[in-house]
Amino acid sequence: MSAVANVAVVGSGMCGMTTALALARRGHQVTVFERDPPPPAGNADDAFFNWQRLGAAQFRHPHAFLGGMCNIIRDNYPDLLEAFYAAGARRVGFEEMLPPPLKAQYTQEEGDDRLWVLLCRRATMETVIRRYVETLPNVTIRNRVHVVGLITESAGDGLVARGLEIRDRADEQGVSERVAADLVIDASGRGTRFPAMLRELGREVTEEVEDAEIIYYTRHYRLLPGQSEPPRGENRSAGDLGYLKYGVFPGDNGHFAIILCVPDCEPELKEAVRDPATFDRMCASIPGLEPWIARSEPTTESFGFGDIKAVWRHYVPEGSPLVLGFFGVGDATLRTNPLYGRGCSTGLMHAHILADVLESTTDARERAVRFDARTRDELRPIWEASRNEDRNGTKRALATMTGAAVDRPDSLRKWFGLAFGDALLAAARDDLHVMRGMMRTFHLLERPGDFLKDGKTRRKVMRYMLRGRRRNAGARLQIGPSRAEMLALVGQGASQGAQGAAQEDRARAA
Ligand SMILES: Cc1cc2nc3c(=O)[nH]c(=O)nc-3n(C[C@H](O)[C@H](O)[C@H](O)COP(=O)(O)OP(=O)(O)OC[C@H]3O[C@@H](n4cnc5c(N)ncnc54)[C@H](O)[C@@H]3O)c2cc1C
Repeated sequence: MSAVANVAVVGSGMCGMTTALALARRGHQVTVFERDPPPPAGNADDAFFNWQRLGAAQFRHPHAFLGGMCNIIRDNYPDLLEAFYAAGARRVGFEEMLPPPLKAQYTQEEGDDRLWVLLCRRATMETVIRRYVETLPNVTIRNRVHVVGLITESAGDGLVARGLEIRDRADEQGVSERVAADLVIDASGRGTRFPAMLRELGREVTEEVEDAEIIYYTRHYRLLPGQSEPPRGENRSAGDLGYLKYGVFPGDNGHFAIILCVPDCEPELKEAVRDPATFDRMCASIPGLEPWIARSEPTTESFGFGDIKAVWRHYVPEGSPLVLGFFGVGDATLRTNPLYGRGCSTGLMHAHILADVLESTTDARERAVRFDARTRDELRPIWEASRNEDRNGTKRALATMTGAAVDRPDSLRKWFGLAFGDALLAAARDDLHVMRGMMRTFHLLERPGDFLKDGKTRRKVMRYMLRGRRRNAGARLQIGPSRAEMLALVGQGASQGAQGAAQEDRARAA
């Protein structure tokens, strides 16, 4: 195979578009197949309110675009970044994100310019990337086509991908066309059908799946005329109340969204957040959210997203590729809990790993093995850290709900881990050096936790440990109603709420 290939990309979501971008830059001829229609004509609001995006169910949930992704865009596609700004997206840097006490200590250091986010709605992000990619001479995007099959050929005892079977969305069933390709890239997201297609071909994709046991609820708002976003104050606009996590996602053009993330083990709260008026009352009771609610009007109902899982798929088990010339990128291969805002960043990294690997060799087997090795080396640590955070979150939610002591460790090692975690959060709240390190991990600019190898950071955290766990534990939770108060507020189980209050106080104190 020549270095330049005829590539079929399935899906034009975040990763499909950026894969097309990265591969087109390296000279490949790319055709993208997408089941949904293209974005409607018009501005960011037209895309947000009118684009039919049934293929990406998360499309109208807010997205944080972390440094990991933003730096790839800025370093490789500066003109694309300009297009985001023109559409209303904003850059918010490290200094601006600091709480007031840390901002007062701030002096610039090398690398700070890599700790930043782009604020805009996902609809804006997708529309801008799409319009940019469709101008590239070696990319064709075909909308309203469903990919229904993978065409393969036997080569010895292996399989090689040779193209796709597609169906026009106007057709009810069947295959309307067979298209040939040198390489097939699965960027069809969380609902990928390729593992099932490969099973039919006798190739089993093994999966690791863990449920985060949460439901994610969103409501969108717009600032009222003459209002601006509340200043950053002591009460954080994103945080954890123990039984509920919350966050504001500032968007573009005066829009923002609020998420409330409820553990599966809280049926009353899950029911309550579905009602938009109750959603607003809950938000107004949380000091970090109240100023946002007070100066805005809702633009949507509250709506939820379940099936939040950490998923990892193995396409090269024990170094043996299941099929050559086929690569899964983005959510189709690895998924993390959206609470951490990592999916688009890992997706972009994945697309660039693929582009590098294809350039590094033309040998089909070597490409599969190298892509798998780099994915495991660079993305697996992020995936594992996310899955471990999910496991801790599930345990904490259950403990809060049952009134058990939160985080009661059953071994010295676990006790040390929990005490260290609390001390780290408390130190980061007060100390710019520790915060800067933590943000490098947060923005996926290093392997998770690498900043803890720094002696100065470790010494600071140890000093906080000496203050005692009880004092540090407060840094984990934000100010807001207790679980019992929240249950009473939403009108569910007032008596249960009263009983729960005492239990909860005991649990928090433990
Ligand atoms: C509620 C929620 C909130 C999130 N918040 C964040 C966040 O804050 N920050 C962040 O970085 N990530 C976030 N994520 C994760 C992020 O949305 C995904 O990681 C990202 O969209 C993955 O990109 P992708 O291209 O792999 O898949 P997608 O963006 O889902 O795109 C898949 C595309 O494939 C198309 N498709 C599917 N099947 C076919 C087919 N058979 N034929 C043709 N086309 C097909 C779909 O229509 C779609 O366009 C969130 C996820 C969820 C669920």
